[in-house]
Amino acid sequence: MGKVWFVGAGPGDPDLVTVKGRDLIARAGAILFAGSLVSAAAMRWASAGCEIADSKDMALEEIIAWLVARAQANETVLRLQTGDPSLYGALIEMAQPLDAAGVDIGVVPGVTSAMAAAAAAVESLTLPEVTQTVILTRVEGRTPMPEGESLEELARHHCTLCVYLSITLLQQVVSALRAAGWRDDAPMLVVQKASWPGEEKIIRGTVADIRDKCRSEKISSQAMIIASPTLGARHWPDLKKSKLYDASFTHRFRRASE
Ligand code: SAH
Repeated sequence: MGKVWFVGAGPGDPDLVTVKGRDLIARAGAILFAGSLVSAAAMRWASAGCEIADSKDMALEEIIAWLVARAQANETVLRLQTGDPSLYGALIEMAQPLDAAGVDIGVVPGVTSAMAAAAAAVESLTLPEVTQTVILTRVEGRTPMPEGESLEELARHHCTLCVYLSITLLQQVVSALRAAGWRDDAPMLVVQKASWPGEEKIIRGTVADIRDKCRSEKISSQAMIIASPTLGARHWPDLKKSKLYDASFTHRFRRASE
């Protein structure tokens, strides 16, 4: 029996697959990828004899059956997922039946889309004395939010919020921020298809205008919403510097100059 690897394909640019992920793609006898988002990575690195299939029309049971059957015939089988497999990827729903079938599994992390969006816009999600916390979340759509995790409650921390799976519910995001006391001029960022070569779109706005801007740019899918008091800091004249590079701060690798 072979091993099934859940591999994070990254946010879109095939070059953002990890080296370990790429090596596994090249070694795989069979790859099941999750929709068009990750096909490019599979096609670019897979060997000529590799069986490659798209899971977009498969139900969970069919996915499991496919993976188990391929693991019986191949040493290395891949489930390629967008971004990182630990986020909104049904990893555990697939791991449990594979465990039950006695199939060994492994996971290779990937670059999640929140990080790709921050990179695209040259933003830092943490800044000294501004916020030191990032929340990865979504708003309630068909998947209910557990108690205490409404965006309004989370937004009361006034930290960085990376909101997945919610671009069609942007109005709900904005209302939650307002209800939590975010000002109209608080900056927001939406990145569509972050890292996709030639297709990335970066929309900068505020609580007051981000929705109109996204509507006029026709952003309605594959987008990351970021609300953060750090946004735009590249242009701040009065930035608080990180202690890490402060000459008067001693840490493990460097002695303070005073
Ligand atoms: N596991 C994935 C998330 C899957 S949920 C990850 O770690 O990124 C799908 C959501 O991820 C989308 O609704 C969107 O909010 C976000 N997303 C995925 N790829 C993206 C990209 N290239 N740019 C912006 N957002 C993206």
